[in-house]
Amino acid sequence: MFNGGVKLVDFKELSKEKHIEDFPLPEKAAIPLSQHTGLPAKPVVKKGDAVLKGQVIGEPAGFISSFIHSSVSGTVAGIENVPLPGGKSSPAVVIQNDGQDTAVEMEKRNWLSLQPKEIVSLVREAGIVGMGGAAFPTFVKLTVPEGKKADCVILNGCECEPFLTADYRVLKEQCGGVIEGLQIICRALSIQKAYIGLENNKKDIAAMVKNAARNLHDSIKIRIKVLPERYPQGSEKHLIKSVAGKEVPSGGLPVDIGCVVFNVQTALAVRDAVCCGLPLIERVLTVTGLVPESRNLKVRIGTPISRILDYCGAEMKPGRRIVIGGPMMGVNLHSADAPVIKSTTGILILPQEEMPEEIRPCIRCGRCIEACPMRLVPAELSRRAENKDWEGCVRFDVADCIECGCCSYVCPAKRPMVELFKWAKAEMRRL
Ligand code: SF4
Ligand code: SF4
Repeated sequence: MFNGGVKLVDFKELSKEKHIEDFPLPEKAAIPLSQHTGLPAKPVVKKGDAVLKGQVIGEPAGFISSFIHSSVSGTVAGIENVPLPGGKSSPAVVIQNDGQDTAVEMEKRNWLSLQPKEIVSLVREAGIVGMGGAAFPTFVKLTVPEGKKADCVILNGCECEPFLTADYRVLKEQCGGVIEGLQIICRALSIQKAYIGLENNKKDIAAMVKNAARNLHDSIKIRIKVLPERYPQGSEKHLIKSVAGKEVPSGGLPVDIGCVVFNVQTALAVRDAVCCGLPLIERVLTVTGLVPESRNLKVRIGTPISRILDYCGAEMKPGRRIVIGGPMMGVNLHSADAPVIKSTTGILILPQEEMPEEIRPCIRCGRCIEACPMRLVPAELSRRAENKDWEGCVRFDVADCIECGCCSYVCPAKRPMVELFKWAKAEMRRL
């Protein structure tokens, strides 16, 4: 188990028992060319082109980039700049849906007959990125850099942010597919050992997952680890510490200590791509908070968030805000015109936060130091950032901050520490 972190009220009971529903197809899908870590994809269609569901509409512009596919069939209405859920904007291929949902031909395969390189290439062509929020191209994670060796795959089933239950529902409803995806990932990395990390609030599915992992045809050994509920249990570094007992060095990557971590929905997307030829064109997300009924919805990429809010009867009264992702690391949505993208884990309607007009001084209570899972000294770091002492921020390891928000959460002075650390990191990049 890792040091620090906080115990949160999880509010998962609002949506935990809600089956995954297929969300109606959007009339128009606006599919951003930049919805992954790395370079935006290059469009390969133009206004007026007819496209099929699953057809490539954007190609990677470099090694760290991703293929983009159409999530509906129809006609390209144009390439327009659209707001992204995270606040930035991106050119997007806008497709007028013809309502036919006509798909490209998708090839079924037996993954047991595929070589690791073939799997990696299929994952790349399917445009799969990390679906837990990071959106890092999955094929890059499956390509271990020369000189490094991966020996342990961890499936991240923690979903440690309060309110979110999409991964839980996917594991519960499609357990076999997720486990098969995990086996395929192990084969791509030539690894025989995998773990599935679940938080204690999902222990009701632990026996089912264990059973599914036991009935395997392949020689890959999968162990289930039920972990205490402690945020940020699902952060890569902390999950590795809890599951494998190893620490990722400062500034390093999980692969430096032989570990590679994947999200539940990413594993399922790998299975769908490799076995069914289905590219990443939809995902499951949770809509919850101040809505008449919380839901877990399977939504096509490019669906406007405004349409989902209408469908769920969300009333945007004064004093409410829309958060994309979880309440701890999510971001406030500025435009409901933004579309769902590959990394959209949830849409939350929450009360507006009251922010003090001025940053209040630190009262030196030390709570943030106890809570920081990265063993940083947030009180000191925030003082340095407030005084624009960027070199001091470097000395106090601001680069190691994972922006989990534990320090702000426990701070009685309500100091906006994550905002200060994001600002300091942006300034450091400029130095
Ligand atoms: S936001 Fe950064 S400094 Fe604050 S607790 Fe998390 S890792 Fe530590
Ligand atoms: S929790 Fe807030 S008030 Fe307490 S030491 Fe940290 S920054 Fe200062």
